[in-house]
Amino acid sequence: MGPLEKLRLLGPATRYEPAEEMRGADRSGPSGGDDDLGGCIYHAAMPNGRRIALLKTLLTSACERDCAYCPFRAGRDFRRATFTPDELARLFLRLQRRGIAAGIFISSGLAGGGPRTQDRLIATAELLRRGGFRGYIHLKIMPGAERDQVAAAMRLADRVSVNLEAPNERRLASLAPRKSFTDELLQRLRWIAELRRSMVGHRPSATTQFVVGAAGESDLELLATTAFLYHNLGLARAYFSSFRPVSDTPLEDQPPAPPLRERRLYQASFLLRDYGFDVEELPFDADENLPLESDPKLAWAQRHLSPAPVEVNRADREMLLRVPGIGPQGAQRLLAARRRGLLRDLSALRRLGIAADRAAPFVLLDGRRPPRQLTLWPADATPA
Ligand code: SF4
Repeated sequence: MGPLEKLRLLGPATRYEPAEEMRGADRSGPSGGDDDLGGCIYHAAMPNGRRIALLKTLLTSACERDCAYCPFRAGRDFRRATFTPDELARLFLRLQRRGIAAGIFISSGLAGGGPRTQDRLIATAELLRRGGFRGYIHLKIMPGAERDQVAAAMRLADRVSVNLEAPNERRLASLAPRKSFTDELLQRLRWIAELRRSMVGHRPSATTQFVVGAAGESDLELLATTAFLYHNLGLARAYFSSFRPVSDTPLEDQPPAPPLRERRLYQASFLLRDYGFDVEELPFDADENLPLESDPKLAWAQRHLSPAPVEVNRADREMLLRVPGIGPQGAQRLLAARRRGLLRDLSALRRLGIAADRAAPFVLLDGRRPPRQLTLWPADATPA
């Protein structure tokens, strides 16, 4: 099998890995003819916000583990493929020179144990760097990878990630009986945090991914772990991937998770990371899940700010961020504008880029509630 044929098998296999912000972005790549790479190249947003064509691929779809949800689990019958590090590095450098890809995400099935698999991922990244590639590399850290390997991966990559898959040991045991949450996975995220603190200059960011809805876990469990990772281990981003049943796996008859649940988890995770919310403050229902019908910031504001609106001319940044329609940038602009004079109407908020109609039910402007707005926002709109 030639390298391009392997890529056509291994690239689309990474659709289960939301590695970079690709919401609203196309999967792309040349289509038709010898270079048909549809499903391998993504227009992805980098950590600095720049969009690039990102090649996403596995090094191998062979795996010795048997995670219950995973299409690559050992024994499942499908056509597998494996790149050597040299093969993948050469192929990527060729695509990069032709302007087809400007960055690469590399994950892998586990073949020969975590350390051996990690060696091959590191070897690929080394070959890319030695081949003159200075662009974006995202490397997966394998379960059981050694600390020195994590350090080596971090020297080569712009981003590293460890897929926790579940929020705790108990939930992971039902999904991946041969993975240890604490020893094999969380410990690698701890090492990444320690190594990041000791690095000067180049410091790759770290992310993780959870499979949502496969293990009976609640949103509270997922978000409590997410909050720990953001606040204690400096995680850049937690990704949530709705469970979809895969044929010929033990979970093939389990229903898929609703995509709206994934959306609510993202919204809540941003409240934890960027808006100063504690996990206990999130508006969980009695079953410890977020309500699907309303975004969590709006639900919180309806409970807490409707009866006690925020005076935008006096509130501190922390309280401004609690108001639907006001995000971190809007709060910053609002604080600066206040130094120049009182804000008396919604149009003053609009001029600052604030979603004033969303904010209106929850604010006071110079002591007065703004006039009631007729425009309603969709219940699932992403809050600022
Ligand atoms: S170790 Fe990874 S690739 Fe292998 S079965 Fe588990 S989730 Fe799938």
